[in-house]
Amino acid sequence: MKAVLEFETKLANITTSSELRRDEEALYNLMSIKELQELAGFIDWRSFFENAMKVVDKKIFPKEQVVVYAPDYLSNLTLLIKEYNETEDGRITLNNYLIWQTVRTLTGCLSKAFRDAYKGLRKVLIGSEGGEEPQWRFCITDTNNALGYAVGAIFVREVFHGDSKTHAEEMINEVRIAFKKNFKNLKWMDLETRKAAETKADAISDMIGYPNFIHITKLLDDRYHNLTVRNDTYFENNIQLNYYNLVKNLEKINEPVNKTTWSMFPSTVNAYYTPGKNQMVFPAGILQSPFYDSKYPASLNFGGMGVVMGHELTHGFDDQGREFDKDGNLHQWWNNNTIELFKNRTECFAKQYSKYQINGKNLNGNQTLGENIADNGGLKAAYHAYLQYTEGKPDPPPLPGINLTHKQLFFLAFAQVWCSTVTVETANLEIVKDPHSPAKYRVTGSLTNLKEFAAEFKCQPGTKMNPKDKCEVW
Ligand SMILES: [Zn+2]
Repeated sequence: MKAVLEFETKLANITTSSELRRDEEALYNLMSIKELQELAGFIDWRSFFENAMKVVDKKIFPKEQVVVYAPDYLSNLTLLIKEYNETEDGRITLNNYLIWQTVRTLTGCLSKAFRDAYKGLRKVLIGSEGGEEPQWRFCITDTNNALGYAVGAIFVREVFHGDSKTHAEEMINEVRIAFKKNFKNLKWMDLETRKAAETKADAISDMIGYPNFIHITKLLDDRYHNLTVRNDTYFENNIQLNYYNLVKNLEKINEPVNKTTWSMFPSTVNAYYTPGKNQMVFPAGILQSPFYDSKYPASLNFGGMGVVMGHELTHGFDDQGREFDKDGNLHQWWNNNTIELFKNRTECFAKQYSKYQINGKNLNGNQTLGENIADNGGLKAAYHAYLQYTEGKPDPPPLPGINLTHKQLFFLAFAQVWCSTVTVETANLEIVKDPHSPAKYRVTGSLTNLKEFAAEFKCQPGTKMNPKDKCEVW
């Protein structure tokens, strides 16, 4: 295992760091399979792709083009594998490495002895052995992972109320209007780019709750038609599921982009923005308390769900999303000068967040840049959407036992969403890997940049939550 670890460390060392892998224009290298073969000859790519495509009856030709995101990595990998292939020990290590990766990914579906053996590694990586969870929890997680749309249909029927979708649409539109309204305050943006940005914001499509097919039994059955699950072959079921997902993915090759497919199941408590589709998606799972409830006052809904909506919307305009146009195509639609000014402003965020520390370690403000831009833009857009939505309406009664105005409650709801606890090991791992800042700084980082927050809580200029130097992009 020592040799395997050494090999894996070498792989880590030739891997381009995540902060340098953010610029999609720079990463996008279109080449033919023949060119790929010249770049990275350690594998016969044509037969690799041909074998993969056999499962979906598709053919691959040498002129076929692929997008290579990491040419440097692949050429370095070729050298590394060549070196290992030269000796018997080296070949054994390569073999062991491949076996280890296979075993590692399947340990979770093996018997207790295997799962126990894996606990030590888990403990070192994330600070928790994971324990032996109750069986019902395994069953639910596994069923949801495998049949998420079928489980989602039950979930939606039980907890997702009919008017939630309409309310969510209304909120998104308020947030979108507030986001666009602020463009005119952004002095760094030229008029032409601003107009194009407005068009892009308007063109962002959204999907809320769940895909409609889950309510139509026939379509739901069709979806899982090729998935075979038996009640006495747990390991085999997992292999079948991997195969089923692989086929679903390969089927998309050479097909036009389908903008109606979902990448999350209905019960997921999360949301996402896809730059390639210029689309944001909010599953039914996140349209629940504490993010949203139809009985909550607007302050809590906008502070929770509204900020999530603003966050996803702003992703369309962060350092990665801005490279895609209104139709989701990667192509430059800003003028060079405005791009320079944008980069200067994002530099402010990179510096600000790089100063924050967790367990004595500094965050990486470049690795987390896109998420920080989205957090800051999202909070501001949601707050102004809230003001605009409640304008002229009387405030609802205050919440019992909490001596805060509704404007203050907006910020409290936002902060509360991020209440969480994490082990030291996991926090350290996140600092190195996660494109998001840790929860604490997702809250305080965005709040310290927003003058409206300081005004509502009467924070004196120059204090911790109201520093004189603030960063702003959107
Ligand atoms: Zn995000």
